[in-house]
Parts: sequence; C-alpha cells; structure tokens
Amino acid sequence: MKQVAIIGSGPAGCFLAEILALKLPDVQIDLYERLPHPFGLAVSGVAPDHLHTRKVTEQLQRTLDRDQVKLICNTELGRDIHYDELKARYHRVILATGASEDRQLGISGEQLTGIYGSGAFTRWYNQHPEAVTLHPHLGERVGIIGNGNVALDIARMLAKTPAEHQQSDLSDAVRNHLAQSAVREIHILGRRGPADASFTLPELTELGALAQANVQVSREALENIDRQALPPSQQKVLNQLQQYAETPVNQQASIQIHFHFYSTPVAAQGHTQLEALTICDSRSQHSWTLPLDTLVTAIGYRTPAIDGVPYDESAGRFAHQNGKIEPGVYCTGWCQRGPQGVIPTNRSEAMQLARHLIREWEQNDAD
Ligand code: NAP
Repeated sequence: MKQVAIIGSGPAGCFLAEILALKLPDVQIDLYERLPHPFGLAVSGVAPDHLHTRKVTEQLQRTLDRDQVKLICNTELGRDIHYDELKARYHRVILATGASEDRQLGISGEQLTGIYGSGAFTRWYNQHPEAVTLHPHLGERVGIIGNGNVALDIARMLAKTPAEHQQSDLSDAVRNHLAQSAVREIHILGRRGPADASFTLPELTELGALAQANVQVSREALENIDRQALPPSQQKVLNQLQQYAETPVNQQASIQIHFHFYSTPVAAQGHTQLEALTICDSRSQHSWTLPLDTLVTAIGYRTPAIDGVPYDESAGRFAHQNGKIEPGVYCTGWCQRGPQGVIPTNRSEAMQLARHLIREWEQNDAD
C-alpha cells in the first residue's frame, strides 16, 4: 500500500484525495484536519448566502466516504504531530493547509478596536470554532479595504435585510447580531482604479439587487480608461460600475454603499476605538479623512508557518518549486499558490499534482 498523508481537509486536500483514490487502487490516504469538522474554506470562507457554492461539501463528503480515505480530526501539524514524524510514517506528505492568517496593512493605528481582518470576520459569520466569540463591533460607518470578491461578500452580508438573510446559512447568534446592527454606510476602498479591481461580475451585480442598499460610484473614477484594451470579463465589470454611476442616488435606501477607487489607506485614527481612516488619493496625492466606526481589511492572507516546514517569509507561504517542498513532500491550494482562485481552481491543481505523483511512483516502480 502507498501511504499518503494530506494535511487539511478543505477543497484542495479533498480534491487531491479524491483523484488519488480514484486512480490508485493501492493507496491509503490519511486526511488530517485540525478542527473538529472537515471542509476548511468550503464552510468557513464561502459566504453563508452562497448556498450553491457551499453545496460543494456534499461532493467532498463523498470523498470522505471512500474506504481508502480516513479523516483524522482535531490533529494539527506542528502541534499534535511533528513534520518529521509524518515524513517518516508516510510515502508522501501533501500540505493543503490554506492561508488562514490575515495580511497586515502596516499602517499606524491598525491595532485599534473596531478593525478586523477579513479572515477573522468571515470566520465569525461562518461560526468557525475559533471565531464564535468575535462579536464584531458594527457601528454606522463601515470601511472595507480591498477590491476583491471577499470585500464584496462582506459588504453584501452587512447590507442584507433580515428577510434577505432568511436564505443564508447563518447561526441564530450571527443572524441576531447582523439584524441589530446599525450600519448605514459601507465604504469599499481600492488602492488602484476600477480597471484593476478583481471583482467578478455576479458578485458586483448582486450588490445592486439588495433590498435596502444603494450603490454609489463616481463617474469621474471611470473616466480615461481604455476599456477596449481590457479583457472582456473586466469590461463587463466596468460596465456594471458605469451603470451604478449613472443610476440616480436613492436617498431612501437605508444603507449607502460607496466605492472609492485610487484610495490608499495611510493611517487609522482614534484613541482606543477606530474613529477615522486617513486616505491618500493615488492620482492627486491629496489626503482625505473618512470617519469610520468599523474597518475590515480584505487584502489577502498568509499561510501560517509550521515548525520544520521550509517557508518563504516574503510570499507568506511554504517554500516550494512547482509544488514540491522537498523529496516526498508537496503542497497544493492556497498554501502553494497564495490566496487566489476559486474552488474549482483547486480541482485542476489537484489533478496536476496527482498526475505528477502517479508518474513519480510509476518511475520508482520501473527502477
Ligand atoms: P483579491 O481578489 O486578491 O483582492 C485583494 C485586494 O486587496 C486587492 O484589491 C488588492 O489590491 C488589495 N490589497 C492588497 N494589499 C493591500 C494593501 N496593503 N493596501 C490596500 N489594498 C490592498 O483577494 P480576496 O478578495 O481576498 O479573494 C481571494 C480569492 O478568493 C480570490 O481569488 C477571489 O476571487 C476568491 N473569492 C471568490 C469568491 C466568489 O467566487 N464568490 C468569493 C470570495 C473570494 P491590489 O490589486 O492593488 O493588490
């Protein structure tokens, strides 16, 4: 039997286990998970109202039901089992530990109360066991830094009405917390322009369909962009932003969502609690101040280092070459390529790695 350890039972780890189990009849896979339950980002990262995406857990469960796959929960690499021990015990070790640490902005005032990383924040509304007690402060004015889909997920979760949240997979505690919040303004801040935003069209369009929210984009931010030079998907994003810019402001809406482009955060102001954010306009270099009660930074993640595993400090993930950390040890998913890509990206990456592992075994057998 080929003994394989996969560390992390999120989509990256499960997809790899599935392919190896399908392709290799003589493989036994131990799938290690540090939490009491499996599926990683599929349950603690995907937005609770994206029920269709969360359904991927049904597919992942079928992998866990296979005889060749054994799930070992509550077991963390580096805490409960050492890297050297794993290497000695298994023919192959594959790390699929994701990227759970929030990147830091590195600005003054970042430690103030009322500032949260998007990882912590999304884990809270997904009731991750380590975040249930976060109970984030949600004042009237919320800033969200970042122009990616995580920023849009968070804005949407904060702007939905209790009736809209009926369709969300939320705990009662989170549902009540959101229902009692007093959010009136949501400011989404991107340090670059709309042409460089990494939103996708469905997520951007969803904001405009919310019952009590109005989306505001300044026409001026959309000027002087050569749209024909952009990929078609980005042109569609620009068109949607243009549509928001041209729609008259609905003052009756109880939540105003403002997009601010070319807005680099410079410093957070406040004594102990956040009161405002100083922002520099990257085109004019003028600074301006945005009063805020709460700030969420949605600027990406790092993979936590693990004792003994080679690590690339500047990239914030394991040190590897094309997924290979050292002989017999590989990585896949966000801990390999960084926090980019959607759930199916993990499937194609797992396919590639599985092909490589199988070829390697075939060569060893032939030698
Ligand atoms: P992302 O798309 O990479 O966006 C991160 C944003 O943070 C970028 O706008 C980036 O700006 C900004 N940023 C980084 N460092 C910054 C700094 N120091 N100051 C100010 N801004 C900073 O990442 P994400 O939104 O965290 O999403 C992660 C991945 O998950 C993406 O691939 C995303 O598509 C995927 N995802 C998908 C869905 C979905 O399909 N519904 C939902 C959530 C997430 P620059 O571009 O200038 O670096």
